[in-house]
Amino acid sequence: MEPFSYTKPAGLNAAIAAGERGGRYIAGGTTMVDLMRETVERPGALVDIAGLSLRDVAVTPGGGLRIGALVSMSDAAADPRVRTTFPVVSQALELSASPQLRNMATIGGNIMQRTRCTYFRDVTAACNKRSPGSGCSALEGINRSHAILGDSDHCVATHLSDVAVAFSALDASVHLFGPQGERSVALRDFLLPPGTTPDREHAISPGELITAVEVPAHPRPLRSGYLKVRDRQSYEFALTSAAVALAIRGGTINAAKVAAGGVGTVPWKLDAVEKFLVGKKPSAQLWADAAARSADGARPLAHNGFKVDLLKRTVERQLRIVGEGR
Ligand code: SF4
Repeated sequence: MEPFSYTKPAGLNAAIAAGERGGRYIAGGTTMVDLMRETVERPGALVDIAGLSLRDVAVTPGGGLRIGALVSMSDAAADPRVRTTFPVVSQALELSASPQLRNMATIGGNIMQRTRCTYFRDVTAACNKRSPGSGCSALEGINRSHAILGDSDHCVATHLSDVAVAFSALDASVHLFGPQGERSVALRDFLLPPGTTPDREHAISPGELITAVEVPAHPRPLRSGYLKVRDRQSYEFALTSAAVALAIRGGTINAAKVAAGGVGTVPWKLDAVEKFLVGKKPSAQLWADAAARSADGARPLAHNGFKVDLLKRTVERQLRIVGEGR
């Protein structure tokens, strides 16, 4: 680890000022400290924002949800307002990381977390995300865990946040505060696919920080849940996952919100699946026909072709679980 300065600003404006001067924000520290130890990250200045007042959870008028950026993953998962309004969010959080990490890591940090691509974390390997223009070791390397959707010839790393998949399904937005004031951006516009600049991961400006994540109100009654498929049952990232929310009234699907994880360079919103489901009556055939659309456009690599079928089966199973309660 290399030398760095450390400051703990008293308020939001002081934090922004320090961030604008080039300081890097740290809250739970569960990603940044690891990366600093591995010299992947070499910040000259850390700005500790853990003490800022961004820990509120609130149900918004109309029945949406606003979660402060510094609410810990474990507190958000356990919050009764989260559990009752959007169980998919609680479930995604509880299936993430380990209890110790969930106690420290924050909602904002979880969304900002960097990839777990092993080549990204190996400073001797070529990696366009860590060192732009150096190449991508994963393209011809061991790429079993990498993306099949949203990839580019420059980077195929997955975004591994579980709760971001739930937020993506629910059309959440990210609230930001920075030198230019407040703004809000849809999560699907905030998390950037790699394209030709995989080192640029977020639509965030210098000095800006996340203050909250907001889930809009959705038609009720809404059933939702998260399914995660992984190599082992705890402390493991997703090979595939599915976040599903369905509003079913009078035997017809009025609204469908679906996203997949473990397969995309960003949480992968399944627009075609959602569109196919709305207006139809739940049935086993419907779940299968909808899920068949979940891997449209997939570009598997040498070692991750299995994800195409696994994704379809994951989505089909979670549609059935949420749609039929089993
Ligand atoms: Fe780096 Fe992305 Fe390639 Fe991994 S997949 S080595 S993060 S450029």
